[in-house]
Amino acid sequence: MTTTESTTLLDRVTVAPETGRPIPDAATREIIGHAPVHTVTDLDAAVAAARAAQPAWAALGHEERSRILHAIADEIEANAEELAVLLSREQGKPLDGPNARFEVGASAAWVRNAADTAIETEVVFEDGPARSELHYEALGVVGAIGPWNWPMMITVWQIAPALRMGNAVVVKPSEYTPLSVLALASVFNRHLPADVLTVVSGDREVGAAIAAHPGVDKIMFTGSTATGRRIVESSANNLARLTLELGGNDPGIVLPDTDVSAIAENLFWGAFINTGQTCAALKRLYVHESVYDEVVDALAELARVIPMGRGLEEGNVLGPLQNEQQFGIVARLVDDARSRGARVVSGGEPAPELGPLFYRATVVADIEDGAALVDEEQFGPVIPVVKYTDVDDAIARANASSQGLGASVWSNDPEAAVEVARRVQAGTVWINQHGAVNPNVPFGGTKASGYGHEFGVHGLKAVSSPKVISR
Ligand code: NAD
Repeated sequence: MTTTESTTLLDRVTVAPETGRPIPDAATREIIGHAPVHTVTDLDAAVAAARAAQPAWAALGHEERSRILHAIADEIEANAEELAVLLSREQGKPLDGPNARFEVGASAAWVRNAADTAIETEVVFEDGPARSELHYEALGVVGAIGPWNWPMMITVWQIAPALRMGNAVVVKPSEYTPLSVLALASVFNRHLPADVLTVVSGDREVGAAIAAHPGVDKIMFTGSTATGRRIVESSANNLARLTLELGGNDPGIVLPDTDVSAIAENLFWGAFINTGQTCAALKRLYVHESVYDEVVDALAELARVIPMGRGLEEGNVLGPLQNEQQFGIVARLVDDARSRGARVVSGGEPAPELGPLFYRATVVADIEDGAALVDEEQFGPVIPVVKYTDVDDAIARANASSQGLGASVWSNDPEAAVEVARRVQAGTVWINQHGAVNPNVPFGGTKASGYGHEFGVHGLKAVSSPKVISR
């Protein structure tokens, strides 16, 4: 494919239909382009080139890498609308609301934050002439394996700190959203030296090969818990360091006598951001009986009126499920809940008039733990609302999951909420909000939601090799 100044980003990253994999528009299912189908041989070449390019990149020093990252953030902002349109088509999320434009903006912001965050040498011991310092150096080559729900932003979370620390990076995007990641990387590569950042657009086999690759020093992985377990197994061979951001089944607990009108919108977006396809979204809500009916009604009312539709049509803020498999999971979980006698208060069915993979925003009440919709990760526009009478019991149920990514506590009394938050097992517990992330605040999971932290200084350390110099 030739590249000229007037070539669009989509043209730059797509290949001829005979050689590529068709990528549908998530809303309409029309083919928007063909993604390259890279193989394990391509991966080997990318890793070898990355290894060769990395020492010079590390030798540039922090100041110069920081300057380049700022130039990349400027470039993302200069191409923001084009990136957002491609992301909206491929992923399905609307341009408006906390969706495609928001994701591109966050991508630029996280690049800038990586550029501006410094990692200082730590003096860990000093006694007369004796002194031990802890330095943080580049690891070498970082492999970044990502999901399809926030493909640009999560890629940036993985690659910006790695680049800042002087690593070269090989990215393996989800096979559902390769074009968004290829387009983003092509924007990065207008400013990076050759081979410091390469995208290998392959399938799960390529993902498995990158995780096991002897030339890869660290894997940044965001995806399902099942795949995370396979990556841990692979790391026994190459001893790659791992950061694992895995699935979640985040609980929320609404405490007694909470002012529902004050929290209703935050509750709704905590659950329905990105049409529910968010790792740290509210996925099961425990509500005290004193406000149960009011919370159910408020959420159902918002679910009925918040606009859902094709992402490129301005005004829509909820979109389709990204792929057929996820649509099937959501439909199965809601049907199962209904067959158990749960009450579908809003939605509960597909919206075929909008497109094949749209499912109406759904609120399910009168449901208990043990129903698959409560116990499993739905990853879609559905929230089960469970009634409780005793706060200790609600905390115990929240903690009964094998997952521990995020959680939230909702109350008029923030101090009481913090007391409950301290007893909930999760990487982050939010008060009166759910899922808000900040580039300076560490983010990561506990239990089967993974280990390691991203963002800020913690994130830079995670893509570094600590080295002690003692004298
Ligand atoms: P997935 O695990 O199916 O795929 C993620 C990536 O792993 C893809 O690029 C895939 O090709 C690759 N892969 C598949 N098999 C592999 C293997 N054996 N070795 C290495 N790589 C392999 O996940 P998904 O369906 O794309 O994403 C949805 C899941 O991700 C949900 O469970 C969600 O909660 C989770 N998620 C977590 C976070 C977080 O920050 N914790 C963020 C987004 C999504």
